[in-house]
Amino acid sequence: PRHNALTDPLTGLLNRRALFDLHGDAPVGAFTAVVVFDLDNFKAINDEFGHAAGDEVLRVFARELASNRRPADVAARMGGEEFALVLKRTLPETVEATAETIRAAFAAHRIETETGSLICTVSAGFAFGTKEGLGFDKVLNAADKALYDAKRGGRNRVTASPFRRAS
Ligand code: GH3
Ligand code: MG
Ligand code: MG
Repeated sequence: PRHNALTDPLTGLLNRRALFDLHGDAPVGAFTAVVVFDLDNFKAINDEFGHAAGDEVLRVFARELASNRRPADVAARMGGEEFALVLKRTLPETVEATAETIRAAFAAHRIETETGSLICTVSAGFAFGTKEGLGFDKVLNAADKALYDAKRGGRNRVTASPFRRAS
């Protein structure tokens, strides 16, 4: 991976700052969605298999995220075991299907590490902007709430934000 101020060195994805540089200022329209992904029970993986194994899991997820995005989509590591995907000119069905593909593909990986093989899952929440345009932070917040619902619902799932859903 490239080492610069906008790239996450572990995964090669854009970092949080790059994501906000790209999207932080412009209002988010009704056909743009933000998906937030958070690895499930990741602390337990670090505890059981070690930090290096955890890093490998992060790289595997990042590859899955990168290989399932369309060229116009923006994938970033927000920090820790949290990632975001921004999709433009899209619809809820497409966002749901994309996030679901990433979720299922990641869960299907048996990840080989120095300390053993393991399986990790991911939860995701997504939200859309609005016709009038919604602040990027607000959309991110709504996606985060949906993510929280996915966690509460049992993890390893994708949940849509019920607020201001595009229809
Ligand atoms: P939940 O399913 O609710 O998200 O549980 P969780 O265990 O994934 O969440 P929690 O926030 O408790 O733990 C996140 C862990 O991620 C704790 C932290 O040590 C680990 N972590 C954060 N950044 C890195 C990293 O760069 N490498 C590794 N190996 N671990 C990291
Ligand atoms: Mg987290
Ligand atoms: Mg987590």
